[in-house]
Amino acid sequence: MSLEKERQRMIRDIEREVEYTRHMIGRDRFQPRVMDAMREVPREEFVPPELRHAAFDNGPLPIGHGQTISQPYIVALMTDLLELQPGCKVLEIGTGSGYQTAILAQLCDRVYTVEVVPALSEEANKIFQRLGYDNIEARVGDGYQGWPEHAPYDGIIVTAAASYIPPALVEQLKAGGRLVIPVGQPYGHQELLLVEKDRQGEVHTRNILGVAFVPMIEKGGGEDA
Ligand code: SAH
Repeated sequence: MSLEKERQRMIRDIEREVEYTRHMIGRDRFQPRVMDAMREVPREEFVPPELRHAAFDNGPLPIGHGQTISQPYIVALMTDLLELQPGCKVLEIGTGSGYQTAILAQLCDRVYTVEVVPALSEEANKIFQRLGYDNIEARVGDGYQGWPEHAPYDGIIVTAAASYIPPALVEQLKAGGRLVIPVGQPYGHQELLLVEKDRQGEVHTRNILGVAFVPMIEKGGGEDA
């Protein structure tokens, strides 16, 4: 099958899963600009070369260091939940392969991304350069601390499961901003949460659906990895 056909298959699989889960996620479809980003970012560039044949399957894949590139449906869902507007500034915790980062870079002016494993951050950075993304800034650090220097953010996305909502991330969210984060037990029950900070600065949290993410590594102390 050609890359183009494979990509179309991935888009159809995402649409089908939205259909199955629409009562849980509270939407019948994702925003067209989110689906356009899913069509445009070359997912095959972000998976290990030996797994390229599976790049467009609607499932997670290993990327080394015990980590995974997230399932396309979950990437699209989390991006959709952020309701990002043109011109936005967004923070991602857990760069991993850099695939979710690139999706965000299609939709936002600036993307800041934090990764705890230096080798993954380095590898992702090389891909961003090769593909010409000039609106992504990546650093190595502990995501529990966020990235205060560039706060506040319109949206924050966490792509590893935290055991609680990191207070620093809520702090670094703009009034009117949204945080999407899986919270729960490492390799146990986890829920994808949507945390909204309203215009008055009050925080509202909603459970979206059960998910399975690799656990967030707790470094503590806020020092860089
Ligand atoms: N968005 C990525 C998902 C990668 S898996 C993708 O689609 O490829 C989750 C990532 O979170 C891993 O790369 C892991 O190393 C990273 N991570 C785990 N704990 C972290 C922490 N405390 N701070 C920053 N990144 C963390």
